[in-house]
Amino acid sequence: MVSRVIPAQPFDLVIFGGTGDLARRKILPALFRRFCAGQMDPQARVIGAARGDLDDAGYRDFARAAIGEFDDDVCCAAEHLDAFLGQLSYVTLDARGDEGWGALSALLDGADRIRAFYFSVGPGLFGDLATRIEAHGLATPDARVVVEKPFGRDLASARALNAELARHFDETQIYRIDHYLGKETVQNLMAIRFANTLFEPLWNSQYVDHIQITVAESGGVGTRGGYYDKAGAMRDMMQNHIMQLLCLTAMEPPAKYDPHAVRDEKLKVIRALSPAQLGDVVRGQYEGTDSLPSYRGEVEDQDSTTESFVAVKARIGNWRWAGTPFYLRTGKRLRARASEIAVVFKDAPHSIFGSDAGRHRNILTIRLQPNEGIEMGVTIKEPGPGGMRLIDVPLDMTFSEALGPDADLVPDAYERLIMDVIRGDQTLFMRGDEVEAAWEWTDPIIDAWEASNTPPCPYATGSAGPDDALALMHRDGRRWREIKP
Ligand code: NAD
Repeated sequence: MVSRVIPAQPFDLVIFGGTGDLARRKILPALFRRFCAGQMDPQARVIGAARGDLDDAGYRDFARAAIGEFDDDVCCAAEHLDAFLGQLSYVTLDARGDEGWGALSALLDGADRIRAFYFSVGPGLFGDLATRIEAHGLATPDARVVVEKPFGRDLASARALNAELARHFDETQIYRIDHYLGKETVQNLMAIRFANTLFEPLWNSQYVDHIQITVAESGGVGTRGGYYDKAGAMRDMMQNHIMQLLCLTAMEPPAKYDPHAVRDEKLKVIRALSPAQLGDVVRGQYEGTDSLPSYRGEVEDQDSTTESFVAVKARIGNWRWAGTPFYLRTGKRLRARASEIAVVFKDAPHSIFGSDAGRHRNILTIRLQPNEGIEMGVTIKEPGPGGMRLIDVPLDMTFSEALGPDADLVPDAYERLIMDVIRGDQTLFMRGDEVEAAWEWTDPIIDAWEASNTPPCPYATGSAGPDDALALMHRDGRRWREIKP
């Protein structure tokens, strides 16, 4: 059963960059789905603000087309869509100049309601927007700003962004999005760990052999080549999404589920990470096939040394995890699109069944995509006569099956996160110090790559990544889990 929908208070949400790709693909469809779910007050307003010359009607057409293209859901009876579009308006505005700010002020003026500014623009404009929001008196005491990834490209730039935002807004007003934190299964990770007595006593180096976190994509860089080639897998995925998954998996139980307590515990995990040795990091770049271009072909730079794959053996230096490595990997053009966290428990201390019974381990797998769910591998007797032979079978709970038709009603990451902004709940957003700590750990790895000037290891499209990544595990007597859809 899906929990009840709590209507949000009336709000004004200004989407700077309201005509961009992110607004089109994610923000507007997410808002529409919340509208259909009854969570968006009829008085709420969504104001697109961008450079393009549009009027309200033009923006509504833009939103209609976006929702038609990207909302594959079925909630959109025509009258719903028209009612939703009626709550949209548009201001032509320049983040770097004066154009449009008077019109935006006039629109917002006097409205006594929650106010949120979504910075769906490149980070180079965050400071300009923040300055002008303040200069035009639009920053009400509890106004919120939402900023997108990438939050910097290294520690220095992240610090500069934090400082820039801090000049105009309090940390309690800043919502740094990592959409992985809005995923249902990611939050479920906390529920599994902290609402069940079953797992927590085993959740440590005494019982856990190692943990694998995989975020595999089957697609290449596609149309994002320009951006991606300047970032690479380390900056695009490891520093933020995988780091967040690592934190939620490894953190101590917070005293309560609130933004300060949860983020304090996540920060402690990042700070406890030992500096990664270069030998514990593998970077790769995909090759092409007869029908698909290579990474270099896709980004149109035959000399590019940007990594489309990275694997890291990370160590957390604290009492809970000393001796239990975390193997992290992410990449593009891998065998399948599959993301999971696998907690691999240690062997039973003594096998009463003798060596013929083979080696069996419990593995708890939290699947983030596809088929969100949880699987517990348990060892049982192989049925039939002929002695005691053991096999591993899964106790499998796919959420869509467990929840039935209600599973379709679960809000997607952007829906949940936008509504959390309106509610003023920062729990699922990254705090400034967390982001900086994550860069502090990744910067030396990137610097060492750049200094070594070695190209990434090539790997075949549709594989599990470069051979060196397999070796990273093999040398420890372990192996990666299969990447399967
Ligand atoms: P985009 O280039 O498609 O859109 C940029 C938007 O900013 C447009 O609406 C444009 O009119 C507006 N803009 C540009 N300069 C402006 C100015 N001077 N004044 C006012 N408006 C201006 O970009 P996007 O893909 O929508 O990305 C927006 C942000 O979200 C970026 O920071 C990006 O890194 C981040 N992001 C995007 C995606 C995605 O899937 N597109 C995913 C994650 C994060």
